[in-house]
Amino acid sequence: MSRPPATTRWPIDDVLARTDLAALLDEFAQPDQRARRWHCPLNDHDDNHASVTMHRDQRGHERWRCWSGDQRHRGDAVDLVQAVRGNTRAEAIEELATRAGLQPGRELPPIAPRKPTAPPAVVLDERVVAYANFCARLLWSPLGAPVREWLHNRGLGDDVLRANHVGADPGRDRLRRSRGIPYGAGAGATFPALDVNGQICYVQTRALEPRPGYGKYDNPSAALAPNPRLTWAVPPGPARPGQLLICEGIPDALIAAQAGYRSVGLLGTNALDPTVAARIANVATRDNLDVTIITDNDDNGVGKHLGQQLAERLGDEGLAVTTLEPPEGHDLSTWARATRAWARQLGHDRPAEQLTRGDLGATGLA
Ligand SMILES: [Zn+2]
Repeated sequence: MSRPPATTRWPIDDVLARTDLAALLDEFAQPDQRARRWHCPLNDHDDNHASVTMHRDQRGHERWRCWSGDQRHRGDAVDLVQAVRGNTRAEAIEELATRAGLQPGRELPPIAPRKPTAPPAVVLDERVVAYANFCARLLWSPLGAPVREWLHNRGLGDDVLRANHVGADPGRDRLRRSRGIPYGAGAGATFPALDVNGQICYVQTRALEPRPGYGKYDNPSAALAPNPRLTWAVPPGPARPGQLLICEGIPDALIAAQAGYRSVGLLGTNALDPTVAARIANVATRDNLDVTIITDNDDNGVGKHLGQQLAERLGDEGLAVTTLEPPEGHDLSTWARATRAWARQLGHDRPAEQLTRGDLGATGLA
């Protein structure tokens, strides 16, 4: 068989649509066993850290990126082939076209269905995890007492705090930190975001007394820890089977977890990351979970809008979703403080065990 003439130009979109970048990376680069990451495939980069991640750009194209900062260590599948082979762009496209079974004069083969969206690869600096773990220990020390009290007043009991590595940041005067770690102007509660396996993948620090002009939450810099957009909260005891609650923010997700629910907390409500629904749907489908979205009943309707949007996207993923709105002016935390019976609204006759066990009793609940 002779090679097609060098002038053969496959439409790049056709080639990329038939290329599985993850499979190509598996072949060209050393995959990391633990995460959806790869060691950099470029010869001039001795990459101990598995710096390569994959994402989909706004046009839906799969791209890879090496986080070494080298601008050449990134791109689409064509760039990957060129970087590894050192060949021309036309040759790289030709190779991908051949791999995809594209042949001159033949009808285009069908595009293989995509695998479920992989979770966004989070490049996490270990200092972020170290900070979250250190603060989690401090919470139970005398330095953590004011934060502990603040958390208790918000209805969070010790069991759920421990299970989710919630911590106390005593402020930068008392705890030195690298740049990019939450600043810590004063004391704050640290709320780690957990991945679906319960590993810390992010942390948000909630100032006990937010400074005027600053938000309540301080996040690590994106260079140290990309925002995972959601957290999987861990119930402190056995979880209610078959149920998944989706809440806004980590504290609300902890309230749900405390009541025995597997729960997801959405981090930030400005934009719904396109992977959020897919990641939730993957787990809900795998574990056969009924999904309930609990929106904030806020004045501006942001929570409601977000809930509708997410419900639609989960619907597109084939899930049946219930949306539940707390009484006016409430989010789940304040609702749970107002009445222990909130779980009955979910159609569960018996309030969750954790709620009746007295975890919240010390907080002066109605
Ligand atoms: Zn590299």
